[in-house]
Amino acid sequence: MTDAALESVCSAASSSQEGERRAINPATGAVATVWRPASTALVDTALSQAAQAQIAWAKVAPAERAALLRDVADAIDANAASFAHDDSKENGRLLRSLRHDDVPSAADLFRDAADRVQREKPMKECADDGVLIHRRVPHGVCVGIGAWNYPLVCAAAKMAPALACGNAMVFKPAPQTPSSAHRLGTLVRERLARRSSNLVHACSVLLGDDAVGQRLVCHPLVRFVSATGSVSTGQRIFANSAASLKRLVLELGGKSALIVLDDADIDIAVDVALHANFVAHGQLCTAASRLLVHRSRQREFSERFLERVRGLVVGPPDSAQSEIGPLVSEDHAQSVLAKVRAAVDRGANLVAGALKPVASQPTQSYLAPMVLDDVDASDPLLTQEIFGPVACILPLDDVDHAVDQANAVNYGLSAGVVGANVARATTIAQRLHAGVVWVNTYNEQPLAMAFGGMGWSGIGREGGDLGFAAYSEPQALFVGAPATPSEGFVP
Ligand code: NAD
Repeated sequence: MTDAALESVCSAASSSQEGERRAINPATGAVATVWRPASTALVDTALSQAAQAQIAWAKVAPAERAALLRDVADAIDANAASFAHDDSKENGRLLRSLRHDDVPSAADLFRDAADRVQREKPMKECADDGVLIHRRVPHGVCVGIGAWNYPLVCAAAKMAPALACGNAMVFKPAPQTPSSAHRLGTLVRERLARRSSNLVHACSVLLGDDAVGQRLVCHPLVRFVSATGSVSTGQRIFANSAASLKRLVLELGGKSALIVLDDADIDIAVDVALHANFVAHGQLCTAASRLLVHRSRQREFSERFLERVRGLVVGPPDSAQSEIGPLVSEDHAQSVLAKVRAAVDRGANLVAGALKPVASQPTQSYLAPMVLDDVDASDPLLTQEIFGPVACILPLDDVDHAVDQANAVNYGLSAGVVGANVARATTIAQRLHAGVVWVNTYNEQPLAMAFGGMGWSGIGREGGDLGFAAYSEPQALFVGAPATPSEGFVP
């Protein structure tokens, strides 16, 4: 079998070839992976092969599709160490977090999609002159576009429901992190090939930069796109999908707020705030970088939060002691520092961290977690996504002020409320303009959760019933049973 899609990766090759790209390990500065972007011809070939394979794949019974997806889930578990290593060497995430969180989540996403497609039944009801059936049909060829912060989970969250529903999926990972999606694509394709060679192209992974993503999105054979990335990328994908009215799910950036109420248990609030800000070293779409703390509790919260933040261990991703690893690249670390430095120049007060990389580490990608206060409400640090380990503590006066402040951005991905009176905290949570709101916790994401954003943070949902439904279209089928043949056309 010639597998052009897989040939577009070369593992850490030594000789340099034209068109090669290098993914750099941000922890060490070494070359992690050498890869080649898919050519225009390969994009066209992969999509037309996908369209052919999808016709055959959609005919495979749901129970058999589900069995294949469960087999993929088992294979993810069996290759857990390799998957964790793929992502860690390319984005610098902590190995233990990838091994214990991301890899099991990716396997669970395949099992969940398998369960869902087996549960789905067409809805039939008798009408006056026949039978009305509501069923779901696959889109055809779907494209998935991934971001670099959760590469494996991102690929699994798009591939699994697409394949479960009988679509073909062509997935493009972020250029910084090609390896785990490529490994996942290989596992899926091996299993499709074992079933029938006609099916193998129902799943492809094409490597590439933004231009390859754009080619995929604009292609006329593609009917559905699910993309994870920044707001500006989402806007381009939205515009490029308009001409052919492609169905879209966009999972974009955020600028979340965590509200700490006057009755909050401060130890819980500090735990939640740490988790909300420094998972994945702050490179998290849900990062609650705006900590709105009731004035009556601000001093207490700040003291304990700062003590914990200053104690976080910055170190290499493979060390069991590390709590904050490197950011994805030195360039990204510099851009985070530049945004914080500009806010400090405008009068904000840096109370933890430093405006330079951690000197003791081997690359300039390691930043100590930063906390600021006295940030002006209109400062870009409070209105734009930073995507790094940066939190701001802001005072709040009362509940209405908290809600107004939390909702004062164009984003609407997530938010959190911490308070001892759970009913009150939940009522406040319901007033927040965010697709996901956590009360007394943060970043918990059960498989049943429909995850996604309002406003600039995206369109549609990923996961849960809503997320699964996005991968198929409803079809109403009316099967007529006239009692007697019609006697001609009666308008
Ligand atoms: P990015 O927008 O630079 O790139 C994301 C992906 O889009 C990459 O694969 C890129 O090659 C591709 N791309 C870029 N332009 C494209 C185009 N015109 N057409 C098609 N594809 C195109 O984002 P990033 O830096 O990789 O990731 C960080 C961003 O992702 C942050 O804003 C973060 O909040 C967001 N994110 C959101 C979620 C979520 O679930 N809402 C999850 C993770 C990351």
